[in-house]
Amino acid sequence: MTVSKARFDLAVGAVKKACRVCEGLQRRISQEGVLSKDDKSPVTVADFASQAVVCAVLNEVFPDEVIVAEEGAECLKNPDNSEICSQVVDIVAREMGHVSQEEVVSWIDRGSGDADVESFWTLDPIDGTKGFLRGDQYAVALAFLEKGEPVLGVLGCPNLEVNQRRGVIFAADMDSAVCRLYSTLSSNIQAGKAWTDNSAEGVPLNPPPLVDVRRARFCESVEKAHSDHSVSAKIAAEAGLSSQPCRIDSQCKYGVVATGEASLYLRIPRGDGYREKIWDHGAGVVVVQCAGGQVTDLDGEPLDFSRGHRLIENRGVVVTSGGIHECVLDAVKRLGV
Ligand code: AMP
Ligand code: MG
Repeated sequence: MTVSKARFDLAVGAVKKACRVCEGLQRRISQEGVLSKDDKSPVTVADFASQAVVCAVLNEVFPDEVIVAEEGAECLKNPDNSEICSQVVDIVAREMGHVSQEEVVSWIDRGSGDADVESFWTLDPIDGTKGFLRGDQYAVALAFLEKGEPVLGVLGCPNLEVNQRRGVIFAADMDSAVCRLYSTLSSNIQAGKAWTDNSAEGVPLNPPPLVDVRRARFCESVEKAHSDHSVSAKIAAEAGLSSQPCRIDSQCKYGVVATGEASLYLRIPRGDGYREKIWDHGAGVVVVQCAGGQVTDLDGEPLDFSRGHRLIENRGVVVTSGGIHECVLDAVKRLGV
C-alpha cells in the first residue's frame, strides 16, 4: 500500500492540532498537572490531551486501524486523579468542541493497540516530556508502519526554529521520499511572513551537503540517563568532528539532522539493558531518510520495527545527514563501543 495524500494530510492535521494543544499549555502547566508513571517518568495533562486529540482525528477516518501510543488512560480512571482527568477533558474540549469524559478516555485508550499486526500507527503524544516541563524542546511524533517499516512520519516541534521560523512540522513518506516542512500555526503565516507560496503543500526540505566533517555538529539527549555522553564525545572525536555536542530533548534531534543544522545524532546505551521504544524513533527515521540522511544502530543494522513495542534487535542509534555515516560507524568499531 502506498501512503495516500489523504492519509498524509490527515496525519499532518492531527499533529498540528496536538501541537496547538501543547503550545498553549507549556507555559502554564503546574505541578498539579503532572503524574509520575510506574517507571518514575513524568506524564502531564498535555500528554493525555495530545494523545486524545491525535487518536480522535485518526479514529474518525480509520476506526479499524491499530494505534500503538505511549500513554494509557488507566490512571485517569483512578478516582484519586479525577481533578487531572477533568483538566484533560477541558483541554481537549477547547480543541475539539464539547466532549464527554467517556469520549476523551476512549480516545486515549484507542492508543493501547498491539504492534503485532501488518500495519499500524505509533504515537508519542509528547516526546521529551522532561524537556516540555523545563520549557525546552519536545515533539509530537506520529508514524505509520507497514510490514515492520515506518512509511510515514510526522514530527511536530512547536519550539524548534528552522529558517528563522519557530514551530515546525516535518512530514515525510517513503513513497515520495520527500520531507516537507509545515508551520505548527494553523494559518502557515508567522510574524507576517508567508510560510510558503503554496502553504497547504508545505516546503520541501533540501538540506545542503556536508562539506567539512570537522565543522559538522552533533546532537544528543539532554538527559544523560538516556544516552552515554562520554562515549558519544569519544565517537564524535574519533570520527573527526571537533564541535561541542548540542543537547536537545526529543525527536527534535531527528529534525535538526534532517535540516542539516546538525550532521549526527548519537544514542548510546548505558549498559542498563534498555531497549528503545518504537514511538521514540518511527517518525524521526522517515523524516531523516527522506531528507537524504541515514539511520542505523551502532552495529550498522537498520532499526527493526517488527518486534513489538521495542527495538529489541538494536543497540543504540546512529543518525546522520548523509555522507558521514560509514565514517561514524568505523569510529564506533575502532573504539569497540
Ligand atoms: P530524549 O529526549 O532524546 O532524551 O528521549 C526521550 C525518550 O527517552 C523518552 O520518550 C523515553 O521513552 C526514552 N527513555 C527513557 N529511559 C531511557 C533510557 N534508559 N535510555 C534511553 N532512552 C530512554
Ligand atoms: Mg518519547
